[in-house]
Amino acid sequence: MTIPQAEGWTVEPLHKEYSQALLEDRVLYDSKTGHQRLRVFENARFGRVLTLDGVIQTTEGDEFMYHEMLAHVPIFAHGAAKRVLIIGGGDGGMAREVLRHKTVEHCTMVEIDAGVIEFSKEFLPGLSNGAFDDPRLDLVITDGAAFMAGQGEPYDVIIVDSTDPIGPGEVLFTPEFYANCKARLSEDGILVTQNGVPFMQGDELSKTMAAFRTLFVDWGCYLTHVPTYAGGPMALGWGSRSGKARDVPLAVLQQRFDAAGIAMRYYTPALHLGAFALPAYIARLL
Ligand code: SAM
Repeated sequence: MTIPQAEGWTVEPLHKEYSQALLEDRVLYDSKTGHQRLRVFENARFGRVLTLDGVIQTTEGDEFMYHEMLAHVPIFAHGAAKRVLIIGGGDGGMAREVLRHKTVEHCTMVEIDAGVIEFSKEFLPGLSNGAFDDPRLDLVITDGAAFMAGQGEPYDVIIVDSTDPIGPGEVLFTPEFYANCKARLSEDGILVTQNGVPFMQGDELSKTMAAFRTLFVDWGCYLTHVPTYAGGPMALGWGSRSGKARDVPLAVLQQRFDAAGIAMRYYTPALHLGAFALPAYIARLL
């Protein structure tokens, strides 16, 4: 795929007929790890930007809109999550948000590329914000699909914070992987997944939902908005072994939110419930 290049800009190669470009005020790092090409640059509006194989993974400026919604919706919905698993999440932002819950006793993070972690600690320290030093965090460097195929204690919440289904991330979008995630969920456990921007990547969401439909009593998706995940709202997949977590009333979510005492920049209890209301074009993809 030939992607237009513009001197001094990152032109994202995610879609063949559409690209977004961010001005690189200063390139801080550009190198290949064993798995993917890592690059960080500074941009006046978004702060530091991390790309993997040219695709924007996260930016200091808007990462909170993604990490807060993928972490706190399942944890507040569950209400008693003690063990949380993150698949991917190398920049540390997801671990940071999960570990803000004092009620979370253990967080396993399974990342395939140690280079992303080491590098994010150095160039994007604000994302992990100390999460990698939290004694509750158990960091495992391996393929998330291989990890899920193994045995182990169940998790109350499993968060798939992966790249897009290209390269090493592809195995994290298969029915087999989702079935293995379900097998590792506790009785009222919840699986949530990064499922791209439906207006641009609708087939990704449809494929995930086709698998979730066969696996979970309660399945669907909810939405967040992340400016650098261009093309409209972003879908976050939701699969739960019981319907309980979806039907938590606003008053209960508010109580849990108040008790957690976490200062948010995006998540609110009302938005938590509203995020499951889908525009017709996205609902039709399920
Ligand atoms: N927030 C970003 C997004 O929505 O695209 C994802 C952030 S994070 C950087 C994605 C992480 O998934 C990367 O660190 C990458 O190394 C990791 N990853 C990709 N494939 C993986 C796999 N098979 N097992 C574990 N981690 C994987």
